[in-house]
Amino acid sequence: MSAEKLLSLLHNIRQTGRGRWIAPCPAHDDRRPSLAIRELDDGRVLIHDFAGCSTRDVLAAVGLTLEDLFPERQGGYTGAKELRPWAAIDVLRCVAFEALLVSISANNIAKGGTVSEFDRKRLFVAASRLQAAVEVANGDT
Ligand SMILES: [Zn+2]
Repeated sequence: MSAEKLLSLLHNIRQTGRGRWIAPCPAHDDRRPSLAIRELDDGRVLIHDFAGCSTRDVLAAVGLTLEDLFPERQGGYTGAKELRPWAAIDVLRCVAFEALLVSISANNIAKGGTVSEFDRKRLFVAASRLQAAVEVANGDT
């Protein structure tokens, strides 16, 4: 499969570089694009949801499977693990947005406001996204 097929199943895609895109994740209610897509020169397609959905869940949400991520031609790739496949700028975009959310909440609390249950849950999501960003930048995924 080329990235084209996956991209045709997603909405609000933004290209962030050659063979790189971000889009809202189809596997969860994603108002802010958290899904990074990358097409490697050998035809493999890598995806990563910074919000934490598994690749399998993301693909299932658009009717694809893991096998769909590999190129149809045989022997075109070595299976070598790609080190740091995600562009630093894409990771930083995610981190910057989460940091903004946290600072808004901190400001509300500083003014004597309370944190709603919804906001509290969202802050946990922010923390897990920031942790995921560290793992991605570290090449752990
Ligand atoms: Zn997701």
